[in-house]
Amino acid sequence: MIDDKQLTIREASSLLKNRQVSSCELTKATLEQIKKVEPKIKAIVTVTDELALRQAKYADERIANGDNSPLNGIPSLIKDVICTKGIRTTCSSKMLQNFIPPYDATVMERLNKCGIVVVGKANMDEFAMGSSTENSAFFTTHNPWDIECVPGGSSGGSAAGVAAGEAIYALGSDTGGSIRQPASFCSVTGLKPTYGRVSRYGLIAFASSLDQIGPLTQDVTDAALVLNAIAGFDDKDSTSVSLPVPDYTQCLTGEIKGLRIGIPKEYFVEGMQPEVANAIKSAIATLDDLGAEIDWEVSLPHTPFALAVYYIIAPSEASANLARYDGVKYGFSFTDTDNMWQAMEKTRQYGFGSEVKRRIMLGTYALSAGYYDAWYLKAQKVRTLIRREFDSAFERYDAMLTPTSPTVPFKIGEKIENPLQMYMSDVCTLPINIAGLPAISIPAGFVDGLPIGLQIIAKPFAEETILKIAHAYQQVTNWHKHKALDRNVNTKDRN
Ligand code: GLN
Repeated sequence: MIDDKQLTIREASSLLKNRQVSSCELTKATLEQIKKVEPKIKAIVTVTDELALRQAKYADERIANGDNSPLNGIPSLIKDVICTKGIRTTCSSKMLQNFIPPYDATVMERLNKCGIVVVGKANMDEFAMGSSTENSAFFTTHNPWDIECVPGGSSGGSAAGVAAGEAIYALGSDTGGSIRQPASFCSVTGLKPTYGRVSRYGLIAFASSLDQIGPLTQDVTDAALVLNAIAGFDDKDSTSVSLPVPDYTQCLTGEIKGLRIGIPKEYFVEGMQPEVANAIKSAIATLDDLGAEIDWEVSLPHTPFALAVYYIIAPSEASANLARYDGVKYGFSFTDTDNMWQAMEKTRQYGFGSEVKRRIMLGTYALSAGYYDAWYLKAQKVRTLIRREFDSAFERYDAMLTPTSPTVPFKIGEKIENPLQMYMSDVCTLPINIAGLPAISIPAGFVDGLPIGLQIIAKPFAEETILKIAHAYQQVTNWHKHKALDRNVNTKDRN
């Protein structure tokens, strides 16, 4: 934020380069904005002001030495599931409330080399389980477009923070939609890279075969810049893939003539808000006008099984990953007991919130002897069918377009008592993680002032195709330029 204007990475970087502003000034202005809006928005678990000012000073020295790398000196928010050396990393859980990682996640190491400035660790659903950020053990984040609504989840703090000018960009993580769905709810751009494109080392594990880190930004070009910095093979993550990383800004030509785009009909699910479907259809028409070849009649018949598959596989992996929180190795520990078993039990009873416990129970059940074949193995088989269905569709199409979420943001409290309804928030995003594909959500309209997101999906490692289409769309539309803060200025009294 400078003079009440929300800057993109590019705009801020060019001001820095031309010495119109210093990173210290930019960072101070951002910290001021945090102070101003945080009582209402509550996007941040830990504000790291001292660190940010130190990093900003260092960034200014780099600029003085002629370093113009695009992320240098730019204030950012990091989802609190990503380990930051020496900085509390809580996963928004009591279990890790006082956990200070002794090491950096690989993405942080890479961003440090680019001159990152971290202004805070962003709130989230506990252990990234949720679609509204209401599952945070600390507090609920509010949507900057309407503070009575949820910001989406689980990266709700990251998305709300960017939308409210508390950072210029943020990192989130996406296991079943947690970057894209909050991006949609907060009208920002959120990219989930292909599984294996970005290292998961230092990302606290939820479901290891589904998790990916990605950027939340104000537009597509900024997403390309952040992806440039974080993508690529890492020998600390055996699932990261050793493919060359292109310069993702090179594909942003605005030229999408002849690209084949499929519209899978199963994504226009029953119960979808009609205004959402209409907005997506008009976004598709815009791409048609730009010369893309649209096929409206695509069918991916296994799509309806994705939700069930996800809620077997993700909890199964979570139950294994979360077994490490036993009060012995690190994190919260309940020791006032008679013996070790009781200590473990109490640690987990008090350390985990109810959604996390629900997932652990679901997963433990699905993996237990006698049920494994019927649930986990079956889910894995259907997972393969879903992946193959995408593979064969991508022989015919360069990309597919769907809504990101079937609804606009809902009210805080509206779905929290009904887990199944909450799980439905991710029907359009879950299949993408199941198949390991890349996808983006970009702003595509509003219903009564609440944002709608367009999802663009491509085959593995075709992030360039996604960015190209998304960028072309943003060249001819203004949805991404609408700012929640401008709206809040006008509706201050209402809030
Ligand atoms: N909402 C989904 C869940 O609760 C996805 C979460 C995520 O992507 N981390 O599992």
